[in-house]
Amino acid sequence: MSMKINLTEVPEEGRSYHWNRETGELNAVLNDLIGNTSHEADFFIKPLNSKDFELTGTVRTKLPEQCGRCGIDFAFPINEKYHEILIPKQNQPRNSKYSKVNHVSDLPQGGPETSEYEGNLFDMGEFLHEVVALAAPFNPAGPEDENGDCSICKIPVKGRSFSYDEKMPEEKPQNPFNVLKNIKLN
Ligand SMILES: [Zn+2]
Repeated sequence: MSMKINLTEVPEEGRSYHWNRETGELNAVLNDLIGNTSHEADFFIKPLNSKDFELTGTVRTKLPEQCGRCGIDFAFPINEKYHEILIPKQNQPRNSKYSKVNHVSDLPQGGPETSEYEGNLFDMGEFLHEVVALAAPFNPAGPEDENGDCSICKIPVKGRSFSYDEKMPEEKPQNPFNVLKNIKLN
């Protein structure tokens, strides 16, 4: 299931889109990430020239996560912005060393990314799926409440450091002679 936008239908002045659970465009494509959680995707597409399009927008939803402090399930709020230049799928000759270089040459550093469309169709559903998936936190934890406690489990958080991973064994100070012994002499 995918939700594709026919770019030939985007007028010269651009078009704005408002997709949510009620309008339903993304319900199937986001289901594996958020289930039936509500979501809002607001975006604007505008042609830049005969083949490139600018896409700007936001997506807001909640991802089911587990608090890294207490292990309790909670909804992690996602509020992501994106700014992309949509370009036709590039047919690169094999062995081209420039295959990863984007052809919009005068973009400033930190400017928009590029995404490819194919045959006038841009897969907006797949794009937003990736945006939401990449927004998942590496170490999720419930936000602190006004008392500095975990808002989910009420564990005091303020002034405590939590390590989410297995504690690494304490590293012993290295004896410089041991280091030298480990250098292989060929
Ligand atoms: Zn917690």
